Amino acid sequence: MAKKPGTLEEKDKEYIWHPFTQMREWVSETPVIIEKGSGSYLTDTGHKQYIDGTSSIWVNIHGHRKRAIDKAITDQLKKIAHSTLLGLSNIPSILLAEKLIRLAQGGGLTSLSKIFYSDNGSTAVEVGLKMAFHYWQLKGGRYNKKTRFLTLMNAYHGDTVGSVSLGGIDLFHKIYRPLLFESLRAPAPYCYRCPVNRMYPDCHLACIEKAEEILKERHKEIAAMIVEPIVQAAAGMIVAPPGYLRRIRELCTRYNVLLIADEVATGFGRTGLMFACEHEGVSPDIMPIAKGITGGYLPLAATLVTREIYDAFLGEYREFKTFFHGHSYTGNPLGCAAAIANIEIFEKEGTLEKLQSKIALLESLLSPLKEHPHIGEVRQKGLIAGIEMVREKDKKTPYRLEEKAGIRTCLEARKMGLMLRPIGNVIILMPPLSISKTDLKKMVAITGKAIDRVAGRR
Ligand SMILES: *Cc1c(COP(=O)(O)O)cnc(C)c1O
Repeated sequence: MAKKPGTLEEKDKEYIWHPFTQMREWVSETPVIIEKGSGSYLTDTGHKQYIDGTSSIWVNIHGHRKRAIDKAITDQLKKIAHSTLLGLSNIPSILLAEKLIRLAQGGGLTSLSKIFYSDNGSTAVEVGLKMAFHYWQLKGGRYNKKTRFLTLMNAYHGDTVGSVSLGGIDLFHKIYRPLLFESLRAPAPYCYRCPVNRMYPDCHLACIEKAEEILKERHKEIAAMIVEPIVQAAAGMIVAPPGYLRRIRELCTRYNVLLIADEVATGFGRTGLMFACEHEGVSPDIMPIAKGITGGYLPLAATLVTREIYDAFLGEYREFKTFFHGHSYTGNPLGCAAAIANIEIFEKEGTLEKLQSKIALLESLLSPLKEHPHIGEVRQKGLIAGIEMVREKDKKTPYRLEEKAGIRTCLEARKMGLMLRPIGNVIILMPPLSISKTDLKKMVAITGKAIDRVAGRR
């Protein structure tokens, strides 16, 4: 019999299959094993500290070991860890629902008035798309033909089969095509590599014309359009030009197509306002939220919808208009308690007010990187930034994926005490909103050095 693995590293390599990871590579390298965290820092089992530059994959908001969230969870633990929302209710899920609706409506997302809980971003999107589809079926008549979805190129809405059907990142999604339902696709507002070869603002948002054409011609068969509002996150933090989201909302209204705004990545202050939709005064019909909802503590998600959609499902039991969907951990009390504490910290500490000067600082820190010979574009919205590395700046030639420019840059940053994870050639900076200005400066300085080491300064 083979020798049993002894160290943590050996056990990891023996038993775990890591997400989005080439495991042959993983087992040939030394993994970083995180033991603890505090504020914006992670500490590994070798006592090395790192700035958590991507908020533990875009979830952390107020830092690690935030006392008020720790306490909210332990207090709830003394009552009950979990009970179900299927046929029952529980206290934290009720109080959180009220808070979330107030939060959305307070930000001008006035049409959202009901909450459906689940436990991750993919399921929150899945719920939204099933509701949109089901809604039109319940409306009946000619609306029964509204069964399709319009989505944007480069979109990412999660990893379940339904949410992958809405996705547009070939590297992740192409292989599954035979399993998926077919979505209609419109160009993304990717200004740096403009899909219609124009320049903002002279383009007058020409990239929307294709979406408009599809809506105009096929709205009778389209249930909903889904977008990542303002920032297409997994596409490499592609920031939509001002006015884009607003136009999409207008078109969806005009053609009687529901708008799903996937705020899973952008929600909870990441873009400088509580929800990205607020930047353009847009109120979606369906809004999935997850990642930051618990401040990065526990898996919880919600899909916010309008009363109009909710009402369509009302009827006598025997009509079977029920939304037959639910997960075992729906409305988990510990997660909801953490989420309530998360939102209360925003209120008590003025998180969003304090954030504004950090956003300005990040902008000024990133500015010199724009001149770098191997940086094609620096994109930023709020405390989210994407730095697109290119092999040839003048021609915008990307590095080939095999060159691993992004991965190697992040490994260099890691040596210098900054934990990052790239998306292809794009270096993502997405620290907790609570990061100090000192650490923000440190983060950008290390990032610049890491890029120099990999790409050279010439
Ligand atoms: C991360 C993400 C999802 C999926 O969320 P999971 O919790 O990872 O399932 C969906 N939509 C967007 C925009 C995301 O960034």
